[in-house]
Amino acid sequence: MPSLRADSPIQYVKGVGPRLAQRFTTLDIHTVGDLLDYYPFRHEIEHGEIEIADLQPGMNATVRGEVTRVRGRGGGLKAEIYDGTESCTLRWFNQSHVGGGLHVGALVIASGKVQEYNDRLEIIQPRLQVFPPDTILMSPTQGSRRVGIYRGNAQINSSTIRRAVQNVLSQDHLPVEEILPPPLCKKHDLLSHEAAVRQMHSSSDEKSLERGRRRLAYEEFFLMELAMALRRYKLVSLQKGRKLHVTPEIDRRIRARFPFALTDSQNKVIREIARDLESGRPMTRLLQGDVGCGKTVVALHACLAAIANHRQAAIMAPTEILAQQHFSNIENYLEGSRVRRALLRGKLRKKERGESLAAIEAGEIDLVVGTQALLEKDVTFKDLAMVVVDEQHKFGVLQRANFRTKGPLPHYLVMTATPIPRTLAMTVFGDLDVSIIDAMPPGRGETITKVVTRAQWKTVMTYVRQRLEAGEQAYVVCPLIGEDVAAGASPAENARPVDRTTIRARSASEESRSKGLVSAKRAYDRLVKDPWRGLNIGLLHGSLKPADKQETIEAFAAGKLHAVVATTVVEVGIDVANATIMIVENADRFGLSQLHQLRGRVGRGGKDSLCVLIAHGRGEKAAERLSVMSQTTDGFKIAEADLRQRGPGELLGTRQHGLPELRVGDILNDFSLLEQARRDAFDLVATDPKLEQPQHARMIPALRKMFGDKLALIDAG
Ligand code: ADP
Ligand code: MG
Repeated sequence: MPSLRADSPIQYVKGVGPRLAQRFTTLDIHTVGDLLDYYPFRHEIEHGEIEIADLQPGMNATVRGEVTRVRGRGGGLKAEIYDGTESCTLRWFNQSHVGGGLHVGALVIASGKVQEYNDRLEIIQPRLQVFPPDTILMSPTQGSRRVGIYRGNAQINSSTIRRAVQNVLSQDHLPVEEILPPPLCKKHDLLSHEAAVRQMHSSSDEKSLERGRRRLAYEEFFLMELAMALRRYKLVSLQKGRKLHVTPEIDRRIRARFPFALTDSQNKVIREIARDLESGRPMTRLLQGDVGCGKTVVALHACLAAIANHRQAAIMAPTEILAQQHFSNIENYLEGSRVRRALLRGKLRKKERGESLAAIEAGEIDLVVGTQALLEKDVTFKDLAMVVVDEQHKFGVLQRANFRTKGPLPHYLVMTATPIPRTLAMTVFGDLDVSIIDAMPPGRGETITKVVTRAQWKTVMTYVRQRLEAGEQAYVVCPLIGEDVAAGASPAENARPVDRTTIRARSASEESRSKGLVSAKRAYDRLVKDPWRGLNIGLLHGSLKPADKQETIEAFAAGKLHAVVATTVVEVGIDVANATIMIVENADRFGLSQLHQLRGRVGRGGKDSLCVLIAHGRGEKAAERLSVMSQTTDGFKIAEADLRQRGPGELLGTRQHGLPELRVGDILNDFSLLEQARRDAFDLVATDPKLEQPQHARMIPALRKMFGDKLALIDAG
């Protein structure tokens, strides 16, 4: 038999004909290569045929015997079989799974999981072969073996997949490519790729399975980091950027604009940025730090440095409100300065917009603040040297936003208030430089966090009322706007991927779970009716008209409202230093990182603050999950806990980031392996940045296979 190749259609595998091949396609398995890549999700010991007397609960076993009794019951079916010594029960929950021919006197071979029920051994949902009474059966297979259990579907089951795989594995050489250079395998004591694939499908024990898995996980990490290293190389070594000089005089003049001394943490980041600006290469830096730690001030320092070098700078915010807020903050800092600045609003009249755009293109404006609208085709800069992207609580994106400017690539600073655990930062932002502001400016009050259950709602609200009457202000945050939202309306704020909780609540599979969620409208009605009757309460959500929203925010900021009841819109929207109380309804439905963001809305002034997280979920679990919040205010610790609770996919929305799905590797459990792979990949690119050496030749197709179209992200500089 000629050997199968990786691209041979699956139909060429022994025992797989056109019909079965068709069914394999439902698992996206088309070729022999696809099949070899389709690993079992667990392994089981399957016993060969044994005597009924030797059955033990928990084992997977095959027995043979004569049917002595058949009984249908409520859709299910039970049969007794006897092998001359002992008898047992076969049980199916659904008769239609059994097929015909099962009658008293027939001979059967049955395999399945053994279970004890009412002191009797049963085989549950066994696979069955039925023979007429006087058939002479082949002699039984003996002994036990370890088998892979594959994820199947209605078209194709695990054992069919396994048989096909085993037929391929019987080849002397598997059609798999060895991508890793031998010295690397040797260094980390890794199996060959082929041996690893064999272990994944049929290992003799857990230990050898783990060796196979480790090798493949390393390879996945290595390729992923190789892509990062290549991107990074192109960015850092090949691109030309603006050389900007941050002289002591410039630095001094910028600092004089701020009515406070910068913190050590801010100073450290300013030095890191200055080094990038002087380097002649375009900066690509991620700036992390909790809300209110002073990132914007640092970013403004960078913008003003570019402007002092007679270039332009732009700040891009995620929402119109936030752009507005940045702009008015900047106006405060720049009062009386010669810096020409503009807010490019979404809703400018045509003539006004035309004038702004012309001024930007002519270089008559130094600093532009806006939303994504800054990326529109008609926005061209004369000489943009510094771009600040405020992602707030959204994770940064892999792709540089594409600003139009004449001249070299601008320096690029992404601000995020979502601390990203080191594990994730390495995978997602492996090609960026990361700066962290890890201390708050002095003079901030403390925030105490309490996790309570729904039963304590009234008590909490009554207590908070006293504090509101004494002059404090509160936010009440709810996951939904109103009942209508769960049904699929699409308010503006939900269109953004940031509002994950709401999106989650609306996804079809979870629709039923969204029933228990408190909507902002309902919470508002309840509060004004009873515990907060007579207080001035505002309602704030994304489907309000911007003008109404603005009015409520202004009233709250001016101290005219005791509280606002809001959806997560407050995350990005408001900055009110006097607000000291944050109450989150359905807190158990938010991710920890998002709660951390919400909590960051209070404790901004000098006064101590209170954050109450109301867990509506039943049982201890919901409250327990939240307990991290009352134990620490360290955003990185919270992010780590969030990552453990929800996994990287949920936390990042991996697909948006152009990252491959990891099939074997697990960035949490295999973190040290990931670190090794990263070092190796970066070392390799340092010595062979174009992967030209023959021992690296196979890596490029492997990258292409792993990243598909997304490889463009790597190729593009
Ligand atoms: P972020 O962008 O990280 O949310 P901002 O830069 O907007 O933080 O700063 C939050 C608040 O703290 C602002 O009111 C700002 O004026 C103030 N602030 C920033 N840095 C300092 C500092 N070094 N000392 C005192 N106040 C500061
Ligand atoms: Mg800010």
